[in-house]
Amino acid sequence: MRFETRCVQTGVDKDSQYNSCITPIYPSSTFSWDDVTSNRGYDYTRTSNPTRTALEENIAALEGGISCRATSTGMSAITAALYLFRPGDHIIAGHEIYGGTYRLFADVFSQTGYRFSFVDMRDAETVRDAVIPGETTCIWIETPSNPLLNLVDIAAVTNIARDVGVTTVCDNTFMSPYLQRPFEFGVDVVVHSTTKYLNGHSDVVGGCVVTRDEQHAERVSYLVNALGLSCSPFDAWLVLRGIKTLGPRMEAHQRGALRLARFLEGHPVIERVYYPGLESHPRHDLAKQQQTGFGGMLSFDVQGGRAVAERVAGGTQLILLAESLGGVESLIEYPATMSHASMSPQARREAGISDGTLRVSVGIEHPDDLIDDLRQALQAR
Ligand code: PLP
Repeated sequence: MRFETRCVQTGVDKDSQYNSCITPIYPSSTFSWDDVTSNRGYDYTRTSNPTRTALEENIAALEGGISCRATSTGMSAITAALYLFRPGDHIIAGHEIYGGTYRLFADVFSQTGYRFSFVDMRDAETVRDAVIPGETTCIWIETPSNPLLNLVDIAAVTNIARDVGVTTVCDNTFMSPYLQRPFEFGVDVVVHSTTKYLNGHSDVVGGCVVTRDEQHAERVSYLVNALGLSCSPFDAWLVLRGIKTLGPRMEAHQRGALRLARFLEGHPVIERVYYPGLESHPRHDLAKQQQTGFGGMLSFDVQGGRAVAERVAGGTQLILLAESLGGVESLIEYPATMSHASMSPQARREAGISDGTLRVSVGIEHPDDLIDDLRQALQAR
């Protein structure tokens, strides 16, 4: 089955009683046993649930993994993945990653003895230099990065990881499996915030961990159950519903994003545009190699720093000033006080996030309307 067909058909668990065409929602928290030694595959919803299983089978098939566990948020998926490692372990991550991930690493897991190095992962050799033999157990990849759309060469990093016997985890939220499948480049574990493109309608907070080998699959299932990270049946159902249109949505997102990126690149008050689909993006060629498209996220720096950025962000009328991304409606946000507020000003500076940086999640509205909206907001600056 081709990708778009898998989006619609895989994991769809039709009920045999009424011949429903879509997966029913099973809200039951518990399932009765036939006798004290046997049940029909489900006993308690924290552990597993038929609606959630349908979603998990669907996402595993889209990523090309063998197993998936759907979680309550993207952060709980990241938490489960981090528990694959132990206090004392050394983990390498990009210095420019989603602010909530940075906070979980730098402020929460580091308190329990995990050790992190945040490095510039645009250059794979920097990653090799950061490896501490015998101590590094994980390389955490986020590509394209949030918010500056920098790319990590996934194959180069997984080659290094294989050389030194280290596990790789990739946050594939920005691309979705429609545009990037990290397992094909040697990654061991994939995580998503399903809140974003997989669900696509800004009405669910969720996540997932996808694995490609039995050992990781078993451990992730154990952890999601033991830590109580699984998502509700209703949220699983909504994400499964959203995924059916993933392909057409991603096409519309990236069509609009390229139009907006070109418009911004030619605008006199814009200092710089960050979008992997632009020929001016430093890793445009890498984007063409490891992605099958350029996605719907872009960022840009305005001249005039914070004062101007604030006015532009507050001046859009159609594009909502809000965090998050990946929904059908366009959103603009100011990373310094919103998505990346949990990073210190110094950490943001080191990552290249300036006071004039704005990020846009381009929705599926007509690109001309979005360009008109940005044009008037930039004029009013
Ligand atoms: N990973 C990335 C790349 C994100 O952008 C986000 C949220 O913005 C997360 C993970 C966390 O996801 P959630 O908000 O669903 O917990």
